Amino acid sequence: MKTVAVLGGGPAGAMAAAKLASGGIETVLLDEKLAWEKPCGGGVTWKAYDRYPFLLDNSVPKRLVTHTGLDDPRAGRAMVRLTRPLVIYSRKELNALLLDRAARMGARLLKERVQGLQRVGGGWTVRTRSGSIDADYVVVAMGARNPLKEFGSAFTPGDTMTALGYHVDTPQSHIDLQFFPRFEGYSWIFPRCGRASVGIGGKGESAQSMRQRLERWMELRGLPYANAQFYAHMIPALETGSWANNRVSGKGWMAAGDTAGLVDPVTGEGIYYAMRSGEMAADTLLDGSIPLASKHVAYREILRREIMDELEAGSRLAPKLYLRPFLFSGMTARMIQFIRHSPAVSEVMQNLFAGTQSYCDLKACLVARARRAALEIMQSVVLRRRLVEEVE
Ligand SMILES: Cc1cc2nc3c(=O)[nH]c(=O)nc-3n(C[C@H](O)[C@H](O)[C@H](O)COP(=O)(O)OP(=O)(O)OC[C@H]3O[C@@H](n4cnc5c(N)ncnc54)[C@H](O)[C@@H]3O)c2cc1C
Repeated sequence: MKTVAVLGGGPAGAMAAAKLASGGIETVLLDEKLAWEKPCGGGVTWKAYDRYPFLLDNSVPKRLVTHTGLDDPRAGRAMVRLTRPLVIYSRKELNALLLDRAARMGARLLKERVQGLQRVGGGWTVRTRSGSIDADYVVVAMGARNPLKEFGSAFTPGDTMTALGYHVDTPQSHIDLQFFPRFEGYSWIFPRCGRASVGIGGKGESAQSMRQRLERWMELRGLPYANAQFYAHMIPALETGSWANNRVSGKGWMAAGDTAGLVDPVTGEGIYYAMRSGEMAADTLLDGSIPLASKHVAYREILRREIMDELEAGSRLAPKLYLRPFLFSGMTARMIQFIRHSPAVSEVMQNLFAGTQSYCDLKACLVARARRAALEIMQSVVLRRRLVEEVE
């Protein structure tokens, strides 16, 4: 295998191209826009910058956020201090950083719209607006709206979330997440360098109704949207039953990032999984011990072990977290109350924000801390009562 065409230059494609080119493969990356302001919160978790320190160690403007407010009308508010901050990028800056890195490693970057992909002999012909490009292997990383329907996840309507919002001016420096009863999703304020991203993402509700929900919330928060720039996109959020047959690779091709449905169905985090899956695709292609004909099978297997099993566990949790009643209220409401009263639960939350708490063992972890949490909650309630008595 001499040449690889990487289709798409977001985090998944840029990471794949950088690794392939640095491994000596002739790599061409095609993206219709190259670096652009994709609708996205731009939040990068500790898990991502711990694995890829260059995400912190650069001069590109970015914001380190150390506090997140969580709200639910049934429970009020809790503030979580992030011991490992979330780093927030403008997506144009982040994509440019990753694409420049790929170019420095030797990848050829072309600003081209991909229009088709055909199997020719044992290789591929990529059809673009201005001609065609031949390659031995392809990595498809054209995001959630991948136009090549034969390659990558075949999303059913239940496998995606709608996400929409506004870029607004606000001096706010912490993140806010707002939950709503009987809504599978949340709205957010993500401060960035420049305008904040204020949006809503979720399932099971029309885009129009979500937009109204968001606008009502923004009015309550005193965030004007009339002249703000509006954005809308989709986020993969595979249902539990869709993971088993998720089409992430085939003979001569691999899909990475959103094209392969690799987004956390609970939080919508996708940047880390895009970067990591792009890198895993490249690693599999560079691994001389795996025969060319079975590379797509090997890739699927390593994706399943490291990413897909975890995200599948997330897909089981998401509807329970957002929709199911729990202790005579909602789970998000109870979670906020527990966080307020119990440092043990707050610690689990911090780990979830950092990306270090796996969904696969979340239940076991909460059960293990239940005794400590119960004691902390009792102490907190008793202490509060004493204080009220003292004041009265
Ligand atoms: C509103 C919103 C908020 C989000 N917030 C966060 C967040 O805070 N943190 C987080 O981790 N994730 C977030 N995500 C998810 C994150 O944006 C994606 O998971 C991530 O961008 C996936 O990277 P990717 O490289 O797979 O795809 P993309 O970033 O979508 O990149 C795909 C690339 O393919 C190119 N392309 C598409 N079609 C063609 C074509 N025909 N020809 C050539 N090029 C093409 C596009 O120009 C694009 O550059 C959010 C998503 C949305 C919609």
